[in-house]
Amino acid sequence: MVEGVVAIGAEHEIIALNDSGAKLLGVQREGSVGRSIQEVTRSPELQAFVDEVLSGGRPAEREVSLHEGERRYFHIQGSPVRDGEGRRIGAVVVFHDVTRLKRLERVRRDFVANVSHELKTPTTSIKGFLETLAAGALEDQGKAREFVGIAARQADRLSAIIDDLLTLSMLEEDADERRLETVTVAVAGLLRDAVEICRYAAAEKQVELRLCCAEGLEANINAALIEQAVVNLLDNAIKYSAGGEEVEIAAEADGEGGLVIEVRDHGCGIEEKHLPRLFERFYRVDRARSRKLGGTGLGLAIVKHIAQAHGGTVAVRSRPGEGSTFSLHLPAAC
Ligand code: ADP
Repeated sequence: MVEGVVAIGAEHEIIALNDSGAKLLGVQREGSVGRSIQEVTRSPELQAFVDEVLSGGRPAEREVSLHEGERRYFHIQGSPVRDGEGRRIGAVVVFHDVTRLKRLERVRRDFVANVSHELKTPTTSIKGFLETLAAGALEDQGKAREFVGIAARQADRLSAIIDDLLTLSMLEEDADERRLETVTVAVAGLLRDAVEICRYAAAEKQVELRLCCAEGLEANINAALIEQAVVNLLDNAIKYSAGGEEVEIAAEADGEGGLVIEVRDHGCGIEEKHLPRLFERFYRVDRARSRKLGGTGLGLAIVKHIAQAHGGTVAVRSRPGEGSTFSLHLPAAC
């Protein structure tokens, strides 16, 4: 059984424990029998629980965390054990490892907190400008125009965050139901479409987009999603480049029937310490700069989900001051 089971005598000594119990508590099964539960686990919480079951004589349950090394969470249930004459002679405690569940709960809580925070910033700003307008600024044509413009930009920001959140949740739903629709497409055409979408932003910043892809290259992918992933990568590459720099986009076969797409810029680059967390939702190296550039903090999380929906991966190589290369690997059997 996956649950850990520990039988404890009246003196708190371990009488028996199963393999799962030893594994969950991180102890040796043989060496633990005969020793007290406190000595073996060094957990005051667990000790108090066993005390309660032994002295109270009633079943009990609780959540405890044990942290020898990595912190783990358990839902524990204990029942007293009686002999033939009804005397309490010990207790049996069953351990369910709920660490994974706890982590998922935390991820969900953090996500809700992050979303609320991200939505609150533009909402507060819109409200502030509307109130200022209502309080009199409306009479001043110049001010009114300026404030309405700011409120409209903040509303665009709100809508961009909501669009990205909807895309992420759609991707997650599709992944759960494993229903990614793919067709064989010409990769060069798809990349040209992505470049076209970013042409205006690139021209505005005087960044040159260079495409390198063999005309005959084909791949079995979801074209709309891959186009979106490439647009997100190009959009970042343009945003984090300086005027006059080049952004290259290249695609080639991986030699095993799959496809590798790379987007390379020569912009500001990213310090190594940020790289492991870069694809997390709302993770930004420089929060203020990202906001100023109109980023939602969700672009790379979307790229990662699109790669995963194709059974693929996304990776980044970067050096501060030299630029970054993001590569999307989409295996053959997607
Ligand atoms: P954002 O909307 O902020 O761009 P992303 O999820 O697309 O959000 O990117 C997360 C963060 O990664 C950005 O805030 C930025 O700090 C960093 N980043 C992404 N792409 C690049 C790049 N090409 N060059 C430098 N930094 C980048």
